[in-house]
Amino acid sequence: QQIMRESMHKYKPVTWDDIAGLDYAKSTFMETIIHPLQRPDLFKGIRRPPRGVLLFGPPGTGKTLIAKCIASQSKATFFSINPSTLTSKWVGEGEKMVKTLFAVAAAHQPAIIFMDEVDSLLSQRSDSEHESSRRIKNEFFIQLDGAVTNEDDHVVVIGATNRPQELDEAVRRRFVRRIYVSLPVAKARQLIIQKLIQQIHHNLSDAQIEELAKLTEGYSGADMDSLCRYAAMQPLRALTTAQIDVIDAQQLPAVTMADFTNALQHI
Ligand code: ATP
Repeated sequence: QQIMRESMHKYKPVTWDDIAGLDYAKSTFMETIIHPLQRPDLFKGIRRPPRGVLLFGPPGTGKTLIAKCIASQSKATFFSINPSTLTSKWVGEGEKMVKTLFAVAAAHQPAIIFMDEVDSLLSQRSDSEHESSRRIKNEFFIQLDGAVTNEDDHVVVIGATNRPQELDEAVRRRFVRRIYVSLPVAKARQLIIQKLIQQIHHNLSDAQIEELAKLTEGYSGADMDSLCRYAAMQPLRALTTAQIDVIDAQQLPAVTMADFTNALQHI
């Protein structure tokens, strides 16, 4: 029940256009998940897609966003599982949950199981530290391996992690396709700014947006989001409480390049 409850919560639909850059990740997902689930008859034998796909890369680079997009765009049943749900304090419960998860997914196939922070469930350390973690990991392997040999099984597992080095070889091997989700390049940062500021009144020129993209080398997508939100608040910060009470939304001053340079000092 807990698995179903967690998975049922609806995401706001996300499209591939909402994800800036990451073209390689997008095309790999089309080839390994979207198309095979759509046409299993075409993706058979050695064309059969891998069961496990791992997304790895720095925090805030869009791994969860990609999973949400796959949930929105594919017609598969989508299970989003928080590893802490599976690491139950009752011995044996965790492995039962893993078994149930795969059984429910198989009953609702085609299905996708998304596990964020998969390292917390399948890290190297969990092997030696806790018997229950070791059992969960083993059950996970049994479920993943079992399905590999079954042509009629259409359940895909997507794991995401910021710490791939914490996963041991046995885990990495099961995630046959591993996709690096990188920090956005300048062009992608520019697209993220353009998309976000569409929602507000601003007077930035294309050249200024390009300039901002250059100034934000090393920022993740999440950092870009914070930067734009911070800058967007500047016209409101300049107002007193009394002014906020009465101001007409149409009269709010435009967000400027100066607001962004100020935001760069904070974010
Ligand atoms: P973590 O590893 O910390 O869980 P993550 O890689 O899963 O991070 P997300 O949660 O997907 O990162 O991204 C956080 C937010 O950053 C997104 O909701 C989105 O607003 C923005 N973002 C990140 N990457 C991109 C991108 N490539 N294009 C557009 N927005 C992005």
